[in-house]
Amino acid sequence: MAGKATLSFPTGEKSTISTGLFIDNKFVPALDGKTFGVVNPSTGEEIAQVSEASAKDIDVAVKSARKAFKEVWGEKTPASQRGKILMRLADLVEQNNDELARIESLDNGKPFSISSTFDVPSVAANIRYFAGWADKNHGKTIEVDTQSDFHYTRHEPIGVCGQIIPWNFPLLMFAWKIAPALATGNTVVLKTAEQTPLSALKMCELIAEAGVPPGVLNVVSGFGPVAGAAIASHMDIDKVAFTGSTLVGRNIMKAAASSNLKKVTLELGGKSPTIVCDDADLDNAVSWATCGILMNSGQVCCAGSRLFVQDTIYDKFMEKLQEKFTMIKGMTKDGFAKDSFQGPQVSQLQFDRIMEHIETGKKEGATLRQGGNRHGDKGYFIEPTIFENVPVDAKINREEIFGPVLVVNKWKDEEELIARANDTLYGLAAAVHTTHIRKGIEIAHKLQAGTVWINQHNMLNPQVPFGGFKASGIGRELGEYALANYTNVKAVHLALGRQPPI
Ligand code: ADP
Repeated sequence: MAGKATLSFPTGEKSTISTGLFIDNKFVPALDGKTFGVVNPSTGEEIAQVSEASAKDIDVAVKSARKAFKEVWGEKTPASQRGKILMRLADLVEQNNDELARIESLDNGKPFSISSTFDVPSVAANIRYFAGWADKNHGKTIEVDTQSDFHYTRHEPIGVCGQIIPWNFPLLMFAWKIAPALATGNTVVLKTAEQTPLSALKMCELIAEAGVPPGVLNVVSGFGPVAGAAIASHMDIDKVAFTGSTLVGRNIMKAAASSNLKKVTLELGGKSPTIVCDDADLDNAVSWATCGILMNSGQVCCAGSRLFVQDTIYDKFMEKLQEKFTMIKGMTKDGFAKDSFQGPQVSQLQFDRIMEHIETGKKEGATLRQGGNRHGDKGYFIEPTIFENVPVDAKINREEIFGPVLVVNKWKDEEELIARANDTLYGLAAAVHTTHIRKGIEIAHKLQAGTVWINQHNMLNPQVPFGGFKASGIGRELGEYALANYTNVKAVHLALGRQPPI
């Protein structure tokens, strides 16, 4: 029998969840009986033990997904029926909004005020959006020069998809991955991040309740180098989708290449520029720039971590920015505190990595304008931090920090600004702040990034594609573009009276 855990929230509520691996719509223990501890990042205390998948468990999950693909899902369930089941799942997410949000906040540390109004509602919206696509993703008929043939394409499901997700938006990344995969008829083996497996376990109950047939969606908890690597190199997984660090993304691609050349989509890191022009609405730009880096404690792949402020407004802008950061320092709290905006970093490891970046920044000669310290005396909180006068090749100007650390640059000449903004390995996102709309659009078109915001930051919609240029990834999530990640295009050539050549 797989285990259960009762989670106690600081608000007094409790939730009991199953902690096994979710295979064939049943919670089962790992074959070797192993479990691992899950920690509340606000306190550093263990809150649950969950089953830990090994490569053998991945094999079992893949068998179940393969059988479901052949026998019940894929082309066996009418597309409109797949959509209907996903719509039911979206409804169930809405009905369980607050419990899911509480679990998310306890496990990840993010404010409940945000998980309950943004993360979980976005999960429902994403599932519903792709549910709508289930019976609308058609091929084309194609005219060619010779009129003696008829050509058309079909968008067929790929098969069994392995999906590996990160810990920064555990439920939302779960939805981004499963919704397009299931809507298009694939079956799935998904591995959650070892830091944050709990909200997905609650989701598994809803998946069974929504009527997703056994084997269609299997969810395992486990570690990257074991369970994640087993997915990436599995010979019977047809496609792997990954969101996480660029380093691991490279490994996933190598594993896919050296196993069965499974298809790969990757959503990786970023070092996104935020550009402020002197005609920007300053208060607005300060607020967006602050949200751009401090939202989710800086643990956002499209965080605006490199800020470029025009020289003529630099001093005024920085004063206002400092004020905002001071305000957020006062709101750096346990996610269940009423006025929390910035929670802890997700783990001791992430905390240590960020503090190391801060120390490196100081040694590299950058000026620490604000923050730079641990916040509080328990959990993994870090003060909102600003560096100025940063050397171009300083590590903090080049590497993704994935924490509440902003690097600020001054700019004068627009051409030089664009070159500096694009001078990065990454190309996930960028933002421009200006009241001159033509200037905003011109700059947006010159930036090498998959997403550019004008006068906002971090705002994403299920309908609009998201993904990276350069080392920030391969493929697009969200929107109609995401469907291409989960379908094979088949071209059918039908002879209409054409004679054979010999
Ligand atoms: P971070 O360093 O921020 O924790 P990772 O990229 O390591 O980010 O983690 C994102 C996801 O990738 C997690 O689910 C993790 O378990 C998984 N992962 C880590 N290493 C590997 C690996 N070698 N192969 C497959 N998945 C991995």
